[in-house]
Amino acid sequence: MVFEGYCVKCKKKQTVSDGVEKETPNGRRMAQGTCPVCKTKVTRFLASKK
Ligand SMILES: [Zn+2]
Repeated sequence: MVFEGYCVKCKKKQTVSDGVEKETPNGRRMAQGTCPVCKTKVTRFLASKK
């Protein structure tokens, strides 16, 4: 999936194209992928559908 997340290394939003959707142990959904510029892991919490 593609999502836009904040990269802490670039200090700005990057469009991540290899994102995967995960669920945290406490039930929150998040998108996780790799920054296309610096290869740092970028995560973003998603709005819950519940
Ligand atoms: Zn980056």
